[in-house]
Amino acid sequence: MRLFLSIAVAALTPIAVWAGDRKPNILLIVADDLGYADLGVHGCKDIPTPNIDALANTGVRCTNGYVSCPYCSPTRAGLLTGRYQTRFGHEFNPGPKGPDSGLPLTETTLADRLKAAGYVTGLVGKWHLGGSDKQHPQKRGFDEFFGFLGGAHTYFPGKTQGQTILRGTKDAEENAYLTDAFGREAVAFVDRHKAKPFFLYLAFNAVHTPMHAPDAGLKKFATIKDGQRQIYAAMLSAMDDAIGKVMDKLQAEKLESDTLVFFISDNGGPTMQGTTINGSVNTPLRGSKRTTLEGGIRVPFFVSWKGRLPAGKTYDRPVIALDISATALAAAGVEVKPEWKLDGVNLGPFLSGESSRSQPHDALYWRFGAQMAVRQGDWKLVKYDPNADDAKGPLVARLYNLADDVGEKNDLASKEPEKVKELQAAWDKWNKDNVAPLWGGGKK
Ligand code: CA
Repeated sequence: MRLFLSIAVAALTPIAVWAGDRKPNILLIVADDLGYADLGVHGCKDIPTPNIDALANTGVRCTNGYVSCPYCSPTRAGLLTGRYQTRFGHEFNPGPKGPDSGLPLTETTLADRLKAAGYVTGLVGKWHLGGSDKQHPQKRGFDEFFGFLGGAHTYFPGKTQGQTILRGTKDAEENAYLTDAFGREAVAFVDRHKAKPFFLYLAFNAVHTPMHAPDAGLKKFATIKDGQRQIYAAMLSAMDDAIGKVMDKLQAEKLESDTLVFFISDNGGPTMQGTTINGSVNTPLRGSKRTTLEGGIRVPFFVSWKGRLPAGKTYDRPVIALDISATALAAAGVEVKPEWKLDGVNLGPFLSGESSRSQPHDALYWRFGAQMAVRQGDWKLVKYDPNADDAKGPLVARLYNLADDVGEKNDLASKEPEKVKELQAAWDKWNKDNVAPLWGGGKK
């Protein structure tokens, strides 16, 4: 009974710690295909990112932060539901159209849940969770939408695969550089809704292909001799500027203490053949977008909330983008119900140092077609895309200890067969609750 009570008290603590006079705004910023190494705070030298760095430096930088897939749409399905997307068949990227190709209607989004809690909800940017009318963002919990429905878009006026920029369901006839437009719309959203709690999902398509940059940005990075890297730098710099404008707006409205901010990329930088190569760099991580190596799934992961979370702290236990839903809901004072079957955990008490538990997750898991991975402590068992860099050949299980081998160079599978068995058994157990993919994706 005593044990039960202490667990019950611990479970209640986060609400007490996080609840305030006002429900906080939630700002969820997602970059697309950003390289792990391409931020100043991660050691990047050739592309200044002062505004994204400031998010890390005014909050907690999760150095073992993951997404639940190395690909755009499945990551977003996990992010917005707080559930491993393989639980509901969203294992691969859907096509742009089709009633059965998008976030299944059985799933509830973070926007649905926050809207039910009285929040004004908005998406600015890339959706990529289905192009049909039923799956339009405004049918999936968002009051407002400005952006596009598919997986990629041109940055200058034009259409991509018949898609245009939409405001709600109408053509927005946008003429600005798209990253600038998303920054402008995010600022306008804050301005419209500053008086009440809001959830803004700001999902840039930068720095995903196509590689389009404004001339001024290209001039700024004229010293970068690699042409693709130069364009990438200009695109990333534009996103950093846009984020700066949103943060300036929060500061001007004195909303910093009332706003919980998350920043992630949806997957690692695409660096291998067969991906949308954009000039990104993932070092010291190995692998690329589309692989379950660290370079595909470990991403910049920053959480900031002025006055509530420590500033400039790092947190090194594994966390995953699935946690963002649970964390945001706790901050909003929403009680998570067991029947929601969230896989994510409220990170608040872990990041603030108030949790008595050593880490949020016993293990993290990935399934992406024939690829898989499981991380337990510092151990990682992984079967990755055989096209990744030096890994020609069939998918085989490799074992790495990330504590001293973050670059996944030293396969310990033959030396530690018991550890391989243990991790494989944990993954098999987790996989029992997954379902078959709802649509194909090959090795994607
Ligand atoms: Ca992506």
